[in-house]
Amino acid sequence: MTIRKLISTIKGQYPQSDIERVEAAFDFANKAHAGQKRATGANYIEHSLATAQTLAELKLPPNMIIAGLLHDVPEDTEHTLAEIKEKFGTDVAGIVEGITKLSNIKYLGMDRYVENLRKMFVAMAEDIRVIIVKFADRLHNLSTLYALPANKQKRIAMETLEIYAPIANRLGIGELQSRLEDTAFKYAYPEEYIWVEQLIKQNAPIKQKTLNLMIKQLTDELGTEKINYVEIYGRSKHYYSLYRKLLRFNRDITKIYDIVAIRVILKNIADCYATLGIIHSIWKPVKGRIKDYIAQPKPNGYQSLHTTVFGANQEIVELQLRSQTMDEQAEFGIASHWNYKESPQNKQEKSKKEVAWVQDLARWLKDVRDNENFLEGAKIDVFQNRIFVFTPQGDVIDLPDGATPVDFAYHIHTDIGDKTERAIVNNTQISLDTKLKNGDVVEIVTDKNRKGPNPEWLKFVTTRTARQHIAIFKNQSWKNLISKFKK
Ligand code: MN
Repeated sequence: MTIRKLISTIKGQYPQSDIERVEAAFDFANKAHAGQKRATGANYIEHSLATAQTLAELKLPPNMIIAGLLHDVPEDTEHTLAEIKEKFGTDVAGIVEGITKLSNIKYLGMDRYVENLRKMFVAMAEDIRVIIVKFADRLHNLSTLYALPANKQKRIAMETLEIYAPIANRLGIGELQSRLEDTAFKYAYPEEYIWVEQLIKQNAPIKQKTLNLMIKQLTDELGTEKINYVEIYGRSKHYYSLYRKLLRFNRDITKIYDIVAIRVILKNIADCYATLGIIHSIWKPVKGRIKDYIAQPKPNGYQSLHTTVFGANQEIVELQLRSQTMDEQAEFGIASHWNYKESPQNKQEKSKKEVAWVQDLARWLKDVRDNENFLEGAKIDVFQNRIFVFTPQGDVIDLPDGATPVDFAYHIHTDIGDKTERAIVNNTQISLDTKLKNGDVVEIVTDKNRKGPNPEWLKFVTTRTARQHIAIFKNQSWKNLISKFKK
């Protein structure tokens, strides 16, 4: 890693004045860290450069790259934050300060985990750029983990899987998420890693042959139909995400169809749908496996069309179709909004929504005092897979996987939750404990005279809001009962 490489990455991307600021930051950090070594024996500045390099490759703005170069200066050298502020401005100093605060966060088991998550979210709400620089910092630390003692390796790897990667996922930065996960996986669960690696080595090559046949056929067909695609290629699933999927499918690899998948990048949305039609005319789709994340994006902004077909050689193959813009969103998520070339107006519009959920979460965290509740809530609401359902008016409601009509009702309004009588899903009445599915249209019929929720609902609700409200009501009715007895 050299300053020359960093400069050549950002040259042409940013004005000369910014390039000079990056060079000045390098000189400053280089002098500040002079004589310091990493555990690998390398000069400390290599770490600062690697962090900045990752940020530059994500096309992030100059101040984030500068903060990447300076991020360990206040903590590990004699130079202060005040100096950084004076030399590089308040904005850079603000990011560096945020990183310094976060560096005290360590994964030390479940108790501290809760506290750590809370701190991370609060920092994120203050300035989301801090977390992204921290991801880049962590990525380089992971790549040099071999130089550390085993207990430290394990702790840093766990911390990455439990804290950093889920946040990268929630911010939609798939590129960083999978890099963080796959590097940490090896150290966190070494035996499982070897198992997954072998599974991929055994299964991927056979599938790859099928894929090549299908890519050829699809390319020809798109040519005939005069659809100009940007790129068609086979992609293999990342190790850790395959591992997690295997756990969901009783470790049965034959149930997983996307170990390798075909990805088609197109010029626009119309071409995505047209191509989906063409694919289904060549190969028969597997029932219930067509997912339209274009019409219904995932909460982190991910958009694509997914379909699974009975493809060449009688093999079941998944295909993913998306436009170039969607592809950028899938890789870079919230980071793609800071892309230097976009107008400030555009950037603001695009990131407003993402920032809003972080702020919501942080506001809520500040209110929560009880750690157990926090963990429960965080697990349930943030890190679970989400489903999308609709109100009869067509509003999209996103809920955790496994949510029921009661969760839906409480999500709309606590009053509706409290007075829920029955639920109509896709025009059919269903029992209140039915698990909702993606795309369901849910209507809640309320009873104005109803006294409150049924405590039995606690047995099946999955969201924090529903659980809390039903529990409060349950406690109150017990207290009422007891006070009646006392009288
Ligand atoms: Mn660092």
